[in-house]
Amino acid sequence: MSHDARIVDAPSGAPQRFLPPISDAGEPFWDATRSTRLVIQWCRTCEQAIHFPREACPGCLGEDLEFRPGSEVGTVYAATMIPISANPTMAGRGPYVIVLVDLPEGVRLMSSVVGPGALEVAVGDEVRVAWEPLDDGRHLLVFVRE
Ligand SMILES: [Zn+2]
Repeated sequence: MSHDARIVDAPSGAPQRFLPPISDAGEPFWDATRSTRLVIQWCRTCEQAIHFPREACPGCLGEDLEFRPGSEVGTVYAATMIPISANPTMAGRGPYVIVLVDLPEGVRLMSSVVGPGALEVAVGDEVRVAWEPLDDGRHLLVFVRE
């Protein structure tokens, strides 16, 4: 691995995470996660970042899209703590935090903050991209506190 990716392991005993389905538009995003790289889709016509990946730009409907490296640090826009999940694939992970994180590119991602201090994360905090391995070789984008 040629870059400084942070890898976080699932809590011991936690079941395998649900494997996110891969849309045609999202395939480059998921391929990049195999080498723990964040890429963000951009519209080359109106120079707008797009997330989640789509077939056409939501701003200008242009289809001249490409993927560029994404920022590794974002700002928490919203956070909520889930004490106990009813979802069986989240057993052993509670309590956990779901966040909306704004990246400097202008996109907002839904994810989770994990690791030390995760439950105390607050709106406005800076968080850093980290990766949790999935069973199929991809990695799940999560965040850790700075
Ligand atoms: Zn556009």
